[in-house]
Order: sequence, then structure tokens, then C-alpha cells
Amino acid sequence: MGGRSDWRDTSSGSPRAAATAAEFTPKQAKFREYMDHSQGCADCDYGNRRCAVAQGIWEAWRALPQ
Ligand SMILES: [Zn+2]
Repeated sequence: MGGRSDWRDTSSGSPRAAATAAEFTPKQAKFREYMDHSQGCADCDYGNRRCAVAQGIWEAWRALPQ
């Protein structure tokens, strides 16, 4: 009886993770990375001012296709 649910349990992990990753395009993921950085960085003023790290992420984001 438990055998049928067992294979479901083992397969539920990886497709879920793949679906989560697929929600973001590389460009969206890069933008999130930029936002995450600017929120935690003392040298960045929430996107109004960029440190060298944020500038690098920003330029990488701009270089990505939509
Ligand atoms: Zn920064």
C-alpha cells in the first residue's frame, strides 16, 4: 500500500525545485541579485547609488537578453 505513495514522495522534490527555478529568467534572477545586494550593502542607496559590485551586477543585467 505504501509503495504507491513512496515513488510520489521521491519524485516530488526535484520537479518542484525545477519549477521554482523556471519562474525566473536569467535576467530576472540577475535583477533580484542586484536588489538583494543593494538592500544589504552600506555603499548602495537602494538603487540610487551603486558601488563597484552593484555596478558590475547592473551591467551584467543590462547585457542579458529579456
Ligand atoms: Zn553595493
